Amino acid sequence: MSDDAFPTFETILYDEPRPGVARVTLNRPEKRNAQNMQMTYDLNSAFDHALRQPHVKIIVLAATGQHFSSGHDLSGDASKTWRDFPVVGTWANFDQPGAEGRHSREMEIYLEITERWRNMSKPMIAQVQGRCMTGGLMLAWCSDLIIASDDAQFLCTSGKMGGSGVEFYAYPWEIGPRRAKMWLLTGELSAAKAEQYGMVNEVVPRADLEKYTLDLAERLTAHTSWTLNMTKAQVNHAQDAQGRRTSMNYAFMVHQLGHAHRQLTVGAAIDPNTLPENIRQHYLRREERKKDQKATW
Ligand code: ZN
Repeated sequence: MSDDAFPTFETILYDEPRPGVARVTLNRPEKRNAQNMQMTYDLNSAFDHALRQPHVKIIVLAATGQHFSSGHDLSGDASKTWRDFPVVGTWANFDQPGAEGRHSREMEIYLEITERWRNMSKPMIAQVQGRCMTGGLMLAWCSDLIIASDDAQFLCTSGKMGGSGVEFYAYPWEIGPRRAKMWLLTGELSAAKAEQYGMVNEVVPRADLEKYTLDLAERLTAHTSWTLNMTKAQVNHAQDAQGRRTSMNYAFMVHQLGHAHRQLTVGAAIDPNTLPENIRQHYLRREERKKDQKATW
């Protein structure tokens, strides 16, 4: 396949840097790769494209710039709403007031779409550098292997938003319950700890990260697609048999209750009083726009 035949996207890059290896690269470095709705649907389209190429066996999820991802973009998608994107899941009624619209929309763009990516037939390797924050964790977690640079930090700011964790609540499944509580309450996990706890497969020097990840991806393509895809599916099912999905559904509903709770107590789905000032300004502007336009979901 020649380069010019690769699909193009607004917020991500797609290429095939090694035989049998597709690479999807988050490409909003000026926003520290914050994930807006455009990026969510670009990712979904790029993954679908890679899955449908018979010669692609492994997907690498990378990011340009200093940081892997600063999480969900709290400033929203300018004037775009859910109508500007193709709905992937089965939830609807995104414009409903109260808790209903947000619940449905977060089901679509956070819980179900991330679960869909976690369950892709082909294995994915996340290549993580710098900060991987809050919503960004969901992108690393839905990958099957995680290679991190030695400067990587896995941060969770949910507590600073008055919440108790992201929508795709994998913390205890990634590092175990007691470590998960420590991580959620302190907000910080170094690459070294993440490797020690089993969330990250390998930590390598920053300068070696890309080559190490691509070498690994290419090495794995020596397996048949059966071996690659079934190995992934078997291990994922082992987790699911332990109740992973049921516990994550409970956590998602608590997350929604948290949004509703803060709406009742501080008048906003995210507590603006505890946000860092620059993020608070973005967030408040989006909330103002939502009032004007009814919804920016
Ligand atoms: Zn949420």
